[in-house]
Amino acid sequence: MKKLFGEHYLIIGIILGVILGVLVGSLYPVLSIKLGFLGTLFLNALKMIVLPLIVVSITLSIMKVGNLGSLGLKTLFYYLITTGIAVFIGIVVVNVIHPGDGGMALTGQMPDIVSAKENISLIDVLLLKFVSPNLFNSAEEFEILPLIVASILFGAAFASLGKENKVIVEVFTILDKAIMKIVRWIMIFTPIGIFSLIADRIGMAGGGGAVIELAMELGKYVLSVVVGLSIHGFIVLPIILLLFAKRNPLEYVQNLSKALLTAFSTASSSATLPLTMEGVIDEAKVTPKVGKFVLPLGATINMDGTALYEAVAVIFIAQSYGIELGMAEMVVVFFTATLAAIGAAGIPEAGLVTMVLVLQAVGLPLEGVGLILAIDWLLDRFRTTVNVWGDCIGAAVIDRFENGDVQKG
Ligand code: ASP
Repeated sequence: MKKLFGEHYLIIGIILGVILGVLVGSLYPVLSIKLGFLGTLFLNALKMIVLPLIVVSITLSIMKVGNLGSLGLKTLFYYLITTGIAVFIGIVVVNVIHPGDGGMALTGQMPDIVSAKENISLIDVLLLKFVSPNLFNSAEEFEILPLIVASILFGAAFASLGKENKVIVEVFTILDKAIMKIVRWIMIFTPIGIFSLIADRIGMAGGGGAVIELAMELGKYVLSVVVGLSIHGFIVLPIILLLFAKRNPLEYVQNLSKALLTAFSTASSSATLPLTMEGVIDEAKVTPKVGKFVLPLGATINMDGTALYEAVAVIFIAQSYGIELGMAEMVVVFFTATLAAIGAAGIPEAGLVTMVLVLQAVGLPLEGVGLILAIDWLLDRFRTTVNVWGDCIGAAVIDRFENGDVQKG
């Protein structure tokens, strides 16, 4: 299997999938939508495996790590610092480019997903999401945070049992291996899945011409988000990887290319998680017990791209309404965008919903979201890729702080 679908073939297949997806989606929108079921099948397969993957990997990792305090603190510290840097970059870029100059055609439509969350508070977004009264309901709703919390608790409880936990460690180790085997089987279909997801989305937007037109309409806003994400993804994160994990960014990005392209095609950090884990642990050789804890948590709460985007979007909305935000308000945006990104789920366009928190914090009208709604599906892909990239780099950095230099082989 490994030979036939070796790494190089898979990467070439995925790149072809992306190119064909863009071409077919642009030229044959109707056909692309008809072929969309292939992408849905791929996405469903990833989602099917992701919940067992999260529960088993986190429980196993906590049982093996022993000192959760040290690993947990390092992880949270890394997440907060890098998310903070991302928001800062977003604030600077949007203030330099000033995309909202000249105002906008303010149609004042509040999207349904936003009006449904009009009364959302920080307590809802951050606190109540951690503990679920019914884990099965959470699993059904694809709410991952309560599953992570429960897995940490079970892992810690099993670890505290001492020798008695031998059987459960063995069972979880076998389950973990079986799950990763299924992940590798699903990965064989990545090229077709990515092709279909990209073609279908461009097809739904009305073809390539329509997408370019849409991007041009909000040109300076799109530019601000993309420039900000590029500074963070191409400059800041690789420097962090080089300095703190002592790894070569080019090699690392190669190991993670399948995950990053899947993040771009699915716009979901959580659905991408199986491929992220495969790349970070199996290919980049990050210590499994670190990767198995840091990555699922990262896919859910560490969102550099989302944080940066929320800051840019909110300040753009303010500029479009002709409202100049002062220094104090920028500080409020900084903190609330960080929290809103932590609270956003790893699913498509989740950041758009938690942005309500940031808008409310600086007293901006929620209708402002209407200005950026049409283009959000596209920007979502860029920010999700940066979200996943940030998680991968976090895993390497934390691994080095826990276990020292990379052990190849
Ligand atoms: N789609 C993003 C993710 O899954 C979240 C967001 O909407 O910003 O990482």
